Amino acid sequence: MNAPFHKPLELELSEPPIMPSSRADTAASIEDAVDVLQRTFGYQAFRFHQEGIIGSLLAGKDVLALMPTGGGKSLCYQIPALLRPGTGIVVSPLIALMQDQVDALNVLGLNAAYLNSTLSWPEMCAVHDQLRAGELDVLYVAPERLVQDRTLEMLEEIEIALFAIDEAHCVSQWGHDFRPEYRQLRCLAGRFPNTPRIALTATADEKTRDEIVSELSLEASKRFVASFDRPNLKYAISESGSISAREKLWRFINAEHPEDAGIIYCLSRKSVEDTAEWLCGKGRTALAYHAGLPTDTRRDVQQRFLSEDGLIVVATIAFGMGIDKPDVRFVGHLNLPKSIEAYYQETGRAGRDGEPANCWLAYGLQDVLQQRQWIERSDGADAHKKVQREKLDALIGLAEMVGCRRQALLSYFGETRSEPCGNCDNCIDPPERTDATVLAQKALSAVYRSGQRFGVSYVIDILLGKPEERIIKNGHDRLKVFGLGSEMDATSWRGLFRQLASAGYLTADDEGFGTLQLTDKARPLLRGETSFEMRKAKPGDRKSRSSSKKKSSAATTIAATLSETDKALFDALKAVRLELARTASVPPYVICHDKTLAELAHARPSSTDDLSDITGLGASKIKKYGSALLEAIASNT
Ligand code: ADP
Ligand code: ZN
Repeated sequence: MNAPFHKPLELELSEPPIMPSSRADTAASIEDAVDVLQRTFGYQAFRFHQEGIIGSLLAGKDVLALMPTGGGKSLCYQIPALLRPGTGIVVSPLIALMQDQVDALNVLGLNAAYLNSTLSWPEMCAVHDQLRAGELDVLYVAPERLVQDRTLEMLEEIEIALFAIDEAHCVSQWGHDFRPEYRQLRCLAGRFPNTPRIALTATADEKTRDEIVSELSLEASKRFVASFDRPNLKYAISESGSISAREKLWRFINAEHPEDAGIIYCLSRKSVEDTAEWLCGKGRTALAYHAGLPTDTRRDVQQRFLSEDGLIVVATIAFGMGIDKPDVRFVGHLNLPKSIEAYYQETGRAGRDGEPANCWLAYGLQDVLQQRQWIERSDGADAHKKVQREKLDALIGLAEMVGCRRQALLSYFGETRSEPCGNCDNCIDPPERTDATVLAQKALSAVYRSGQRFGVSYVIDILLGKPEERIIKNGHDRLKVFGLGSEMDATSWRGLFRQLASAGYLTADDEGFGTLQLTDKARPLLRGETSFEMRKAKPGDRKSRSSSKKKSSAATTIAATLSETDKALFDALKAVRLELARTASVPPYVICHDKTLAELAHARPSSTDDLSDITGLGASKIKKYGSALLEAIASNT
């Protein structure tokens, strides 16, 4: 389809933002902030703590804001930066994101720029000039740049609206992203005592929070702590079972995300490459990303992920930091992550735009055995191994549980949620538990009696009484347990073995051959002194597909909520957006989000006036893109 717009679009850097008229003379009020929210950003109302945070900054108070990813942190400092006299200085460690953030603000009609090591000398001088002339609403600065004397002296000469310290957990040595330069940001308190500062982070734990406060001298700040719940994310964890995890993944993607962008995490570089190739063979555009690829290739993958629609990136954990794409509709895991923190962080890259997104994980016995083995074999100190063991066990607990996963996830982060969520697999399709003490005894005794020298397939063959050559040669067809397990099929036995390993009754040998061995915990169970409950496999985990259609997901993507004709227009609008994005050299989501397109496709506005009722379309975007969007609607109706 040809995009129906006439003149090429440019980012008009000098266009003034839409502001309430009273700027600078009197302190701006929260009503002014609502006005900017609606007119400039095109959003109806503030979310969660945004209003309180913005109010505090407008009143000149310091703020500490803890909000989950996608919670809407940027608006918290962008709006006060616009409303207070002077430039808002935003400190961010993610240099790769600055261009994107600046583009997004420019598209909204604001004057924004950044200072970091990627700028050439003349480019830097130009930014300095703009800053001195008071032309910038927002300036993004890398921390190491900000704390240079030169920069600080320059800032002392100009008017500053506020300092926003993004990713503030980087100041913490406990956290995972410690950046020594962040500690020097403490000097801002002394050098700019009258400028409000806001520290923002999506990392919750209390140790980190306390360190942010003390390291950045934020003792007097107002604190805003949002729930870490991401209600739009649907969590589902299942076992690989008889279908390979990959096959299962494909069914999931094909059924729920046939056109959506997503990220799939694998543990090894090889499986990253194989999976990407496999998905390409299925007709999807899938790109591999891992630390072993050349820098250029990696940059290219990132760029394509941001700028193309519906791309899948298959990656090791190396992919994600600094990926701010709001419309990632699913995150899949083909292996167990290392901890609940890692799971939360990786799944958190889905659905930043607040629209429904899926977090899908499949794992099997090998995952459990392998992760445990890696910890034991690593050469860290014992205390460190202990922590890692506990973290992995917490994650396995989450994977094997029968209750609401969101409740468990939040409780791990210290939040209580009284009701089950209704948006996780266990809530939607509750799994059953049954007493499996006798089955577990059979399984453990088959391992024991065959000498703890074999892998799971061999042991299952014994239980099923399969007269395999190797079994007969070893004389294992004469064991008491031979053929004693015919009440379950191989898949169910595998599931039971995984659960026994998860619960710590079984481990793998040290040599890495996947040989099963009993732990001390197994003894009382074998003797019948303890019992064992198992989670029943769901029909969907089995090879037969008969009942797998039963309940589909509660998370429907935006496109799925549209009627067939609206969907056609939605697709046409998507093509227009892509064209607009290419012309402006920005990612499509900087032009507008899917939600905006969906609203357009449904409401079919016919005039510029009507456009302002659509979420995400502020005055500047309407001016720039309104006619192209209206034309697309007119010619597709
Ligand atoms: P964070 O930095 O906390 O991860 P962002 O600031 O990127 O989150 O915001 C996430 C998304 O939510 C963005 O697309 C943003 O435009 C949108 N958003 C923020 N505040 C609102 C609001 N009040 N109403 C509607 N959308 C909002
Ligand atoms: Zn739930």
